Amino acid sequence: MIYSNTQKEIGNKIETNTGVNRWKDWKWQLKHSIRSVDSFEYLTGIRFTAKEKEELKRTFQKFPLSITPYYLSLIDKTNYKNDPVFKQAFGGVKELTVLPSELSDPLAEDKDSPVEGITHRYPDRVLFHVSNICAMYCRHCTRKRKVGDIDYIPTKEQLKIGIKYIADNPQVRDVLLSGGDPLMLPDEKIDWLLSEIHKIDHVQIIRIGTRIPVVLPYRVTPYLVSILKKYQPLWINTHFNHPKEITESSREALAMLADGGFPLGNQSVLLADVNDCPRIMKSLVHKLVENRVRPYYLYQCDLSEGLSHFRTPIGKGIEIMESLIGHTSGFARPTYVIDAPGGGGKIPVMPNYIISWSTNKVVLRNYEGVITTYQEPDSYKSKFCDRNCDDCKLELNLNECEEPDSVGIEKLLSDSCDTISLIPENNTRIQRRDEND
Ligand SMILES: *Cc1c(COP(=O)(O)O)cnc(C)c1O
Ligand code: SF4
Repeated sequence: MIYSNTQKEIGNKIETNTGVNRWKDWKWQLKHSIRSVDSFEYLTGIRFTAKEKEELKRTFQKFPLSITPYYLSLIDKTNYKNDPVFKQAFGGVKELTVLPSELSDPLAEDKDSPVEGITHRYPDRVLFHVSNICAMYCRHCTRKRKVGDIDYIPTKEQLKIGIKYIADNPQVRDVLLSGGDPLMLPDEKIDWLLSEIHKIDHVQIIRIGTRIPVVLPYRVTPYLVSILKKYQPLWINTHFNHPKEITESSREALAMLADGGFPLGNQSVLLADVNDCPRIMKSLVHKLVENRVRPYYLYQCDLSEGLSHFRTPIGKGIEIMESLIGHTSGFARPTYVIDAPGGGGKIPVMPNYIISWSTNKVVLRNYEGVITTYQEPDSYKSKFCDRNCDDCKLELNLNECEEPDSVGIEKLLSDSCDTISLIPENNTRIQRRDEND
């Protein structure tokens, strides 16, 4: 069976008898995207009260609703209130709550914008906003201030301003196309834009950030892939947040891109009640790598306006990273980052693995809780230095110092004890060793 029953039902409701046949036509999908509460109700059978409808309409006036029939078909109608797809796509009145700590441009992308469309924050790479439309408007979008203004698709003239900036700045070796969604541009415009950037000698790589494989996988056509292939090296980053989003259709789209030779990455956003669970994340990263997608970043939900109901404590992200590092393949784990409010860029955060340190030993712990030591080289002489070399007389007199027996981590740091690790009781790996002996 190619289509699920829900997909057949939605397709037929949109266009009696022909809807299913056109389901995989991405332009048909966009033409029939769900943009109102009424059509959402009609296509899903879900009903809201008059009061809820009024609140939802106010919400969608502030940030538009747009869901592809495909993405809509992933919603579990019987339990939609807890459904991760529903929460990302449909939202609700909670979005109208704006906290004092929230900002319309939390990452100061506009302040770091030397010319229209470009955010230049890091020394050697720029973000180029080439579209402000998306196939589906994520309720958790960081760029709510920019995205969804339907009248605004940059013209070639406007895009040329950004292209010129890149050409004029030889330090830019990496251009990241973002938006909105760059793959929402027509094929011809994508071809033109990539060729203009590709022509610039000092640009070594181009990247595309897109949610198309998640919300409109049929947009990935053989023709699109043939265009993209001309502009290698091209890296593509997508945005899966939940294992449920990896469907047969999205697998096909990812396979076409991977077969096209593009390295694929994924950026997830940590979202309360959507994916804030170590087991969900582990399942997501496993499915991604199965589909040749390398988890790249896990973002802490930023301080954009109206996202408070999506935010988790940072501890949740650390807990998730704790459950991935060591527990699964190194390439299956993303880097957890906080994009610094005010424009400081992405800051990686991790659980702590270094427990203590002396001048020649580091005490580390692994994912199992084993505490171990790394002996640093004796021959590497590091000395206190005030840059006054003629007067350097550093001398330590340890002979007069009685050392009591060392305990705990201190024991691992001490030169007088040959214990190299502390292992908790009942460690299964050590038990296995004993059994094998
Ligand atoms: C994320 C980002 C980049 C790319 O950062 P990488 O860590 O290289 O992926 C570049 N510019 C801006 C403004 C960004 O937010
Ligand atoms: S695809 Fe990206 S830019 Fe578009 S709405 Fe979603 S998060 Fe925002």
